[in-house]
Amino acid sequence: MAAIVKSKVIVLRKIEYGDSSNIISVFSEKQGKMSVIIKGARSGKNKKTSSSDVMNLIELVTYQKENREVQYASQVDLISGFQKIKSNLELYKYAAAALELIYFLIMENETHEKLFRGIVRLLELIDSGKNNPKLLFAKYFLLLIEEIGYKINFSECASCMKDIINENKISFDYELGFLCKNCSDERMENNYFEKELFNLILCLSTKKSEYQYTDKLLDTVIIFFENYIKYHVPEFKGLQTLKIF
Ligand SMILES: [Zn+2]
Repeated sequence: MAAIVKSKVIVLRKIEYGDSSNIISVFSEKQGKMSVIIKGARSGKNKKTSSSDVMNLIELVTYQKENREVQYASQVDLISGFQKIKSNLELYKYAAAALELIYFLIMENETHEKLFRGIVRLLELIDSGKNNPKLLFAKYFLLLIEEIGYKINFSECASCMKDIINENKISFDYELGFLCKNCSDERMENNYFEKELFNLILCLSTKKSEYQYTDKLLDTVIIFFENYIKYHVPEFKGLQTLKIF
């Protein structure tokens, strides 16, 4: 059975294929991550090639067959190219890092509508140039951690369930999560967690729009998220995008 599917997608990767085609990896609103071939994308007669550039939001019509690894695109229409992001290295760095997270951490054909809406919103906000791209990225990283099944509990000790928000000393265990002072003290090894860092992560997990942070603290948050995901997803080797720029 084949079906014609129209869907909004974000282009994650693009490679040239054969004489004139491109294969793009996309994150689709309806179908999650998938690979799509655009025949004749580089043949000059059509403009499909630039509309399918990495980071673009496009509307894609695909001719879909189950059990086929790469689907065929019959129509490609550009919705947004996020030109401001592409002309500013600092903006580009964090937008590209978000695409890298999706590319490596989301399974093929697994629908994640909330993450899709989130990435479109993230790119729009970064493109507007009004917000700190690093802060926006850290917020999206935390959303992604939750959505792929590794939600961190910020309210209770993972061992005794005691309220930890007001504890002045807490620790973090990669397997269990946050631990209260008593549970931390009972352990042989402790990773005491800075309260300032905990409070910032707690803020990122809410809809609050005002934060108190320093640039350095935000870097520490991002490294903490990377290490947490590395622990749970051993294939993940950390964000290459953040190392390059
Ligand atoms: Zn406890």
